[in-house]
Formats: sequence, C-alpha cells, structure tokens
Amino acid sequence: MVIGAGFTGLLTARVLAGHFDRVTVLERDELPAGAAHRSGLPQARHPHGMLARGARIVEDLFPGVRAELAAQGAPVFDFGAGFATRLPYGWAPRRPVGIEVQSFDQTHLEAVLRARVRDLPRVELLDGFTVEGLHLSADLRRAAGVTGHRRADPGRTPVRIEADLTVDATGRRSRLPGWLTAAGLPSPRRLEVPSPLVYSSRMYELTGDQVPDWLVAFEMTLPPSVDRGGAAITVDGTRRLVSLVAPADELPPPRDDEALRRFAATLRSPHFAEVMERGRPVSPVYRCVVGGNLWLRYDRLPSRPDGLLVLGDAFCAFNPVYGQGLTVAALQARLLARLLRTADGPGRLAHRFQRRAARIALVPWLTATAADRGWSAGPASRPARMTRSFLDGILRRLPDEPELYTRFARVQNMVASPAVLLRPLLGRPVRRAEGCAVARLCGRVTRRHPRSPPSAGIWR
Ligand SMILES: Cc1cc2nc3c(=O)[nH]c(=O)nc-3n(C[C@H](O)[C@H](O)[C@H](O)COP(=O)(O)OP(=O)(O)OC[C@H]3O[C@@H](n4cnc5c(N)ncnc54)[C@H](O)[C@@H]3O)c2cc1C
Repeated sequence: MVIGAGFTGLLTARVLAGHFDRVTVLERDELPAGAAHRSGLPQARHPHGMLARGARIVEDLFPGVRAELAAQGAPVFDFGAGFATRLPYGWAPRRPVGIEVQSFDQTHLEAVLRARVRDLPRVELLDGFTVEGLHLSADLRRAAGVTGHRRADPGRTPVRIEADLTVDATGRRSRLPGWLTAAGLPSPRRLEVPSPLVYSSRMYELTGDQVPDWLVAFEMTLPPSVDRGGAAITVDGTRRLVSLVAPADELPPPRDDEALRRFAATLRSPHFAEVMERGRPVSPVYRCVVGGNLWLRYDRLPSRPDGLLVLGDAFCAFNPVYGQGLTVAALQARLLARLLRTADGPGRLAHRFQRRAARIALVPWLTATAADRGWSAGPASRPARMTRSFLDGILRRLPDEPELYTRFARVQNMVASPAVLLRPLLGRPVRRAEGCAVARLCGRVTRRHPRSPPSAGIWR
C-alpha cells in the first residue's frame, strides 16, 4: 500500500507492481483525469526542473515518458545551451555540456505518470481517501495497514485497509510521526535548516516574435549576500512560468503587479523582467512559502515497525530552489526496486531501505544546507563552514572556466559525484578544510586518496 499519489507515490507504485500481487495507492484528493491543478499539489503552480539523473530513472521506470511530454510541447534541450543561469559571481558559460534535460509543467508530468500507473494491472488508485492513522499488529512490531475515511462520506466512517507493506509518500506535511507517537512508538528526530524564501509565480504567454533565446532562466540565491533570485521555465512553445524568489518580507504581495515588476527589475538577470514586461499573464500570481530543509531521521529510529517505509519529501524535503526533491525521490524508488529484488520479505526491508535512503539524501542535504546556513546569523558548525567554503570557491570560478562549469553541471544534475570537482583544487595547494569538505560531500573519498572515485552506491 502506498499513501499519497504524488510523484513519489506514483514511482513507488510502479516499483511495487513488479513484486506484489496487489498494490493500492490511497490519495486524499479526487484525482483529475488529465493535467490539472489540485489542492494536494500546490507546488505545481511553481516552476519545477527535474535534474538529468531523476529524468533518466523516470524514463527507465516508464519508458517513453519523455517523448510523451515532448509531444505535449515540453522541450528537450542541452542543460548548458538552454539554461541562462546567473550565478552569484557572474553568468554561467552558455555552451553545450552534453546533459539533456526537459522542462515541463508539473501537472503534465503527474498526469502522464498517473495514466501509466492506472494502466498497471496490479495497481489500484483509490482517490478521495484520507489516511488518518497507522494500523499496527498487536505487539506493535509490524505495520499492518492504515485507517482512514472516504472524503465523500459525511459521517467519516473509519475504514481499515490491511497491507503487507505500507509506504508513506505523503510529502513534506506527512503525519506519520504523530501516528507513531499515538501508537506509543518512537518518532524520528527532526533535522531542520530553515530558509525564509518565498516563491511568487505566474504563467505568461509570449507571441512568436517575443520568444527569448533561453528555455530556462535561473538566478541562484546564495545567502546572505545574494538573497533574491528567480526561475523561469518553458512549459511549451509559447508559455513561460516565471517565479520570483526572495525572503517573505522583501517580495511584494501577489496582487501588486507594479511592485512585482519593480522587484523583477532589481534582479541581476534581466530575463524575468523581460517576460513580465512583454508577455501576457494567463494565470493569477501564486505565492508559496518553501519552508527550508527538513529531514525526519527514520534511518536512526531505535526501533521501528517492520513493513513500513518512508520515501520522498515525507522522509527528506529540501529547499526547492536547488531542484533536488524529484530526483532524490526517484533515486529512492530505484533503491527500493533494487532491494526488493533481493529481499526475502517485506518485513526485513524497512531497516535496510531507510538506512540506504539516508545515504541518497546525504549529499543533496549537505549541498542545500551548506548554502542555506547563510540565512541564520548564528555560528555554523565547522563541517558546515568547510562545505560552504568549498562551494563558494567553486562558484567564484565558474563564470570564467567553462570546463569546470561542465563538471559542475554534471554534479548539479547528479550524474557525477562531487569528486569530479576536486581536480581544479588539486591544481593548486588544497586547503585542508576544502579537502575535508569534498570528502564529506563525496561520502567515501578518503583524505589519503582524494582522487579515488567514491564507492558509495548513489553514483552508480
Ligand atoms: C515551490 C516549489 C518548487 C519546487 N521545485 C522543484 C524543482 O524544481 N525540482 C525538484 O526536483 N523539486 C522541486 N520541488 C520539490 C518537489 O515538489 C517535491 O520534492 C516533490 O513534489 C515531492 O513529491 P512527494 O510525492 O514526495 O510529495 P507531494 O508532492 O507532496 O505528494 C504527497 C501526496 O500525498 C497526498 N496526501 C497527503 N496526506 C495524505 C493523507 N493523509 N492521505 C492520503 N493522501 C495524502 C497529497 O494529496 C499528495 O498527493 C519544489 C517544491 C516547491 C514547494
């Protein structure tokens, strides 16, 4: 059983369908037939970019998805050539880097995946069903399903659904910690690195002669010095979804068009203001508080019920400005597929899965939080300072070093380990702090052999 039919839930259902006789996906929302917004997916109002690594996994699980989205207008292009990226210390070199990416509207991606999952013979998608608690075996050692109610039922009659394996894919606002506590079980420790950023997004239509020479425009934030930025993506031939990003108290209210335009003009990239000036708005302005980075350490629970897994944002959610959430969820779904091939039953799976899923989350967590610790005035820990100093050193060099940018783009798209960024450092004396920071980022790179590739599974 999978709770939540978001991106993670759909990928997980696809994986489980290869190993179980019956897979039930429970979703609170009434799911639309095609690409449409729904209340459980508020983030779809805002630009989403899937890193190349995530897109490859999705394509492996659902062959032909890229072509299907392309047929709906979502462009496929080279990351280096199609992105106009304003980095904190200058423009990213604009040339091909050999990494294919695709930009799309998030509702279209989910509609395509949902249709594929609905077609799987062993999967049942039960929408309009709100899960309200975990059902456990009498000795509390095994998750045996969930309890919930149909949204259409005014009396909220409790319904129990039993399962051999229960997966929480309910996203950042998962209520699983509370359900565990209510059952008298330990709940996971919360690791939080906050960010004050807010997105303000609107869809624009451009006529043929107004179409710019970029497919994605991105301006990176790097607190505390660069505290505002933006993202604009091409969702099809003429539409661009534009987002302005800043701390809540700096971003004008959604209804104040003039102030939003003035704000866009303060960015170092002119692309957002250009689209807002020339394009025709075809949606209201939507605002979203991103909520920073949150990791619920299910991997560290002293005891957990067997048969219970947590994936996607419900396990570890990142500040979305770094575009990592979908790819980390896809990597976890792939991990689950690998473990299921060797597992001897759903019971023993939970411990192994959660430990390895934590390894997947670690590098994205370190990169996101190394930057986001710049939002807090308090002193950062030594490892955080080292990681930040390494990141800063690389970012300073990118505008003038196209070859380094190509490697950085590979790391950013999670198709290469951060170890590939070591080479420019090795050309000059490596500061000890930098070496340690890279070692942490790479997982297994040792201080004695910093050139050796990391053996941690996530890069395979
Ligand atoms: C503004 C913004 C921009 C982003 N941009 C990017 C980006 O560019 N790239 C990227 O990789 N990631 C991005 N992300 C992150 C990305 O959206 C998430 O990582 C991803 O959607 C997580 O998917 P999920 O399925 O784990 O959770 P969700 O998408 O939150 O799905 C959870 C599902 O569970 C359902 N549910 C919840 N509770 C219950 C319940 N009790 N019973 C039944 N169903 C329930 C919900 O209705 C929902 O359908 C962005 C996020 C935001 C907020």
